[in-house]
Amino acid sequence: MHSDPVRFDAGDAPYLAWLQEHPRGYVINARRKEEQGAAMVHRAHCPHIRSLRNSDQTGSFTLRNWVKYAGTDLDRLVHHFVQERKAPLVVISRCKACDAVPRDLYHERPPGELGALPDERSTTVRVNARERDPLARAQCIERHGLRCMACGVDLAQRYGPIAEEFIEIHEVPTRDPRAEFDPQRDLVPVCPNCHSMLHRGRLTPLSIDDLRSVLRRAVRTWSDTVFGG
Ligand SMILES: [Zn+2]
Ligand SMILES: [Zn+2]
Ligand SMILES: [Zn+2]
Repeated sequence: MHSDPVRFDAGDAPYLAWLQEHPRGYVINARRKEEQGAAMVHRAHCPHIRSLRNSDQTGSFTLRNWVKYAGTDLDRLVHHFVQERKAPLVVISRCKACDAVPRDLYHERPPGELGALPDERSTTVRVNARERDPLARAQCIERHGLRCMACGVDLAQRYGPIAEEFIEIHEVPTRDPRAEFDPQRDLVPVCPNCHSMLHRGRLTPLSIDDLRSVLRRAVRTWSDTVFGG
């Protein structure tokens, strides 16, 4: 018997009852905040989602920072979870203890969602004044070097002398708007391709870590089957 995906975020009793009733079900453990895209998927019998770790003695399965999404059909559960999340990249990791999925699952939100810009307006990277400032650029390169922080390419190595010293500079949005601008912390070198992908269709660029995850993604075919390409 299949049950619809359900989210448990307001008390452990219904969650534990669900586990009891659906020993062959699946559970996605995720942060309460929907902007958080990282999660892990387990089988209902996995000890990791049935017992609170020592450090969480005062905690709860569903009341604090973590919530649970449960379902008996894995594809439907994953789909439901991805729809609810407001992150540009959703990564559902595989639990090594219960092996609910063969590999980590990735879902990239296409540009055009999540408060994005209309596509034609945003395919060109608009380089801001800080990214253009030669001194800030020099400080950024002194700190990070000339390799792209996202994909690791060294353009001079790939193209030879015509690409000597060529790299774009990207400003990482700081979390604290009152923090003073620090070129060594706030600027990173990125190749033109990665720079475009960071900004493509978005008001707030992807984070470097998210773009790295996109590049590492190994399960495109799985994801395409589930999400219809
Ligand atoms: Zn597990
Ligand atoms: Zn790159
Ligand atoms: Zn940028």
